[in-house]
Amino acid sequence: MMRITADRDKCIGLGLCEAEAPGYFAVDDDGLVVLLADDVDAGHADAVRAAVAACPTLALRLADG
Ligand code: SF4
Repeated sequence: MMRITADRDKCIGLGLCEAEAPGYFAVDDDGLVVLLADDVDAGHADAVRAAVAACPTLALRLADG
C-alpha cells in the first residue's frame, strides 16, 4: 500500500492535488493542503499519483508501506 505525506511548509494552496484526487486532498481555511487519508487504496493509486505529480512545489510525496 502507498502512503502519502504532505509538507505544508512547501504548499502554496493552488488546489491542483484536490482537483486530481478530491477524496485524498483538500485545501483548508489557511489555504494549505490537508490530507483526508494517508493510505491509498489500490483503486485510487493512479489518481493520487496524478495529484502528487501535479503539485508544482513538490509538497507531496508517496512512499510504499
Ligand atoms: S498541489 Fe501542492 S501546492 Fe497545490 S494545494 Fe496541493 S500540495 Fe499545495
